[in-house]
Amino acid sequence: MTAACLMTTYQPLALSFTKGLGTRLWDQAGREYLDAVAGVAVTNVGHSHPRVVSAISEQAGLLLHTSNLYSIDWQQRLAEKLTQLSGLDRVFFNNSGAEANETALKLARLYGWHKGVEQPLVVVMENAFHGRTLGTLSASDGPAVRLGFQGLPGDFIKVPFGDLAALDKAHRTYGQRIVAVLMEPIQGESGVQLAPPGYLKALRQLCNRRNWLLMLDEIQTGIGRTGQWFAFQHEGIVPDVMTLAKGLGNGVPIGACLARGKAAELFTPGSHGSTFGGNPLACRVGCTVLEIIEEQGLLENAKRQGERLLARLHAELDGEPQVLAIRGQGLMIGIELAQPIRDLTLIAARDHGLLINVTRGKTIRLLPPLTIDEREVEMIVRGVGRVVRGAGN
Ligand SMILES: *Cc1c(COP(=O)(O)O)cnc(C)c1O
Repeated sequence: MTAACLMTTYQPLALSFTKGLGTRLWDQAGREYLDAVAGVAVTNVGHSHPRVVSAISEQAGLLLHTSNLYSIDWQQRLAEKLTQLSGLDRVFFNNSGAEANETALKLARLYGWHKGVEQPLVVVMENAFHGRTLGTLSASDGPAVRLGFQGLPGDFIKVPFGDLAALDKAHRTYGQRIVAVLMEPIQGESGVQLAPPGYLKALRQLCNRRNWLLMLDEIQTGIGRTGQWFAFQHEGIVPDVMTLAKGLGNGVPIGACLARGKAAELFTPGSHGSTFGGNPLACRVGCTVLEIIEEQGLLENAKRQGERLLARLHAELDGEPQVLAIRGQGLMIGIELAQPIRDLTLIAARDHGLLINVTRGKTIRLLPPLTIDEREVEMIVRGVGRVVRGAGN
């Protein structure tokens, strides 16, 4: 087989899997791997979860698609469940994270339009990642993803992540033109960056004061990843808009944009839409995933195993000259290295049967399924310890 017919947007390892179960994957030669990537925070309840498998196969035998020209029972059920869990009021379903963020950005525009703002601006964060469509790319930071795509929509103001004074300055400069702030509670793609304590709460107050929508991109942090359903729940606040995708379908593509209060009332028939969004298959799987997380106590497990993993990584790697920082929340953990280690993900897989991810060149990112146990935590710590130390020799 050759990949010559594929556009070269990724540089995949020469490693291909044929089967997955729980926290494990098997390659074409039948070798077993511990998966600490989970398809980039997607397979949160593990691979081939029997209840996900039966939800998919039963629904496939009943009905896949009718379009949003008709009511879809599973869509309403999933929306009800998501609004209950989050405290937001209404949901629009998409097929991916970028699309869910596009939905949020359209809400911000409409919000501004209703306020009589002619050229509304959305504040975004330095080093943010919100997706690859033109709009979400414009909201994202970093030359690597933006290079060559000049002429992106320019209605964003970028401020340093975690810097409240910069938001005041933006207000002084742009005044009423600002209608919303869009941010990730923990920046995932840029290396698991946590906001300073109290930042989200202060931002919530600031948004209230200025009548800005607080829009949280929980595409990576949501659905139990950090030990709560949504990362904002650690801070005791509720956003006006939140986007989800990744873990919601455990591998079946689905995205969602939730909104509350005024923001939930902005769309009217015709102002937004999606052919596939909210189809019976994706929504039934979404309902099943949420049930599994509840019934298996996976929020508690993510919290407990996440704390253990973080503590064990500190014990194993603190003082290593090539390790600059270890940080994270729940099962979203980054290990920042002093410099990139060549072939790090390949070596971890080949020599230790461990799948890990590296972002921005030099931060190891661990995103295991929320189902991992103590023994698997130890396996991750041992594997990561060996690759990191091995690189120093
Ligand atoms: C993955 C991700 C996206 C993009 O999601 P896609 O499904 O790839 O479009 C957006 N924002 C965040 C924070 C993400 O982690």
